[in-house]
Amino acid sequence: MRVVSEPRVEWTRGADVVVVGAGFFGLTIAERIAAETNKKVTILESRDHIGGNAHSYIDEASQVEVHSYGSHLFHTNNLKVWDYVNKFTKFNDYKHRVYAIAKGEIYSLPLNLQTLSQIYPGVTSVEAATNLIGGFARENRENFQDMAISLVGEAAYELFIKNYTQKQWQTDPKKLPPDIISRLPVRTNLDGRYFSDKYQGLPLNGYQKWHERMIDDEKITVQLKTDFFENNHEIKENQFVVYTGPIDRYFDYKHGVLGWRTLDFETEVLDLDDFQGNSVVNYCDLEPAYTRIHEFKHLHPEREYVPGKTVIMREFSRFAGEKDEPYYPINTESDRDKLLKYREDATRVKNVFFGGRLGSYQYLDMHMAIASALSLFENELKPLMRGSK
Ligand code: FAD
Ligand code: UDP
Repeated sequence: MRVVSEPRVEWTRGADVVVVGAGFFGLTIAERIAAETNKKVTILESRDHIGGNAHSYIDEASQVEVHSYGSHLFHTNNLKVWDYVNKFTKFNDYKHRVYAIAKGEIYSLPLNLQTLSQIYPGVTSVEAATNLIGGFARENRENFQDMAISLVGEAAYELFIKNYTQKQWQTDPKKLPPDIISRLPVRTNLDGRYFSDKYQGLPLNGYQKWHERMIDDEKITVQLKTDFFENNHEIKENQFVVYTGPIDRYFDYKHGVLGWRTLDFETEVLDLDDFQGNSVVNYCDLEPAYTRIHEFKHLHPEREYVPGKTVIMREFSRFAGEKDEPYYPINTESDRDKLLKYREDATRVKNVFFGGRLGSYQYLDMHMAIASALSLFENELKPLMRGSK
């Protein structure tokens, strides 16, 4: 792997495949091509690091691994993806747990029997919780609010969801799609894990090492601080491009701008051993204005840290302006209309493949981005590449 950190215009020369974006999608594509063919790959990345939003760094003062774009928890049920990622890193056995602060009390999230018993005193058995939840179900679940109330009931909606969602989406919950809330499970038992996936954990030696291992091949060149659109990117007949940037930007926003939500992160090193006692705590009231606080040392209890130091990160959410990093697709009806047009255009661009979170305008967890890149390689790219090993 060669990493070049100054933009150059000659980047396309010599590369058989140009990958735009060094997030998990782009890294997986590059790794597969290098491992299975004799083709050369150049990855262009506009940021000054690889790894996309899953990037992390070690804070000097505390030796804590800070996830630059918020806590990234790896979890999957997909054995193929699990086997694949284990080629590059070992994982600790961390199981993610989230707590929510609402009206001065701490609750376990997602809602489980313990949380339900706090809101509805007397509900203390699986059967009672099942009956309670059964009573919430509504026929109309077409929008976020109806779906949420149908899943957790009015009281829990008011306590945990209404204000948090207001802070996070700044959109009337009736105008949000229902699937945003249906990703959060409601449990009738005492399982307090955030994810129920079979395979979960964090990379033992950190995300940075994992990302570097993926592209440790002399056929791969990475060019940081290089925006695909700010350089001469004429694609030769015999070259392929895998584009993982925003799909609307590729087409010069000709059907309009797709809506994204962005996040602001405020990081602080504190002279404390432990600030909140857990990796993530959600703040479900309208005040404070942040939605959650990450405290990264709890993600790796197996590590040694500098005593008396911890790193916390407050997360604020807002609509993304033109200059902001796009994080979560808002996906309104108008966004979906535009997306269909962009997707149609994408099918007509020769030798360019679109993928990843930004290229598909879809919220993808890491395991989904990796699975989708593995499929693109196997089903479309590999058969096109003459000279495969
Ligand atoms: P990205 O990681 O976004 O990478 C795309 C890269 O392309 C970026 O580095 C970008 O700079 C680059 N790029 C874009 N345009 C250009 C251009 N024109 N030229 C050059 N480079 C360009 N997933 C989980 O599984 N667990 C979690 O806990 C989790 N938490 C998350 C928390 C947050 C706040 C966010 C936003 C996402 C989270 N995710 C999580 C999702 C995870 O970040 C994505 O699955 C993953 O980033 C997808 O990889 P990607 O390669 O598609 O996109
Ligand atoms: N949510 C909420 N209160 C919480 C946690 C989540 O209202 O304490 C809602 C919120 O609308 C959020 C959605 O549930 O967007 C999905 O939660 P998840 O943690 O998956 O959201 P993410 O942070 O990944 O967007």
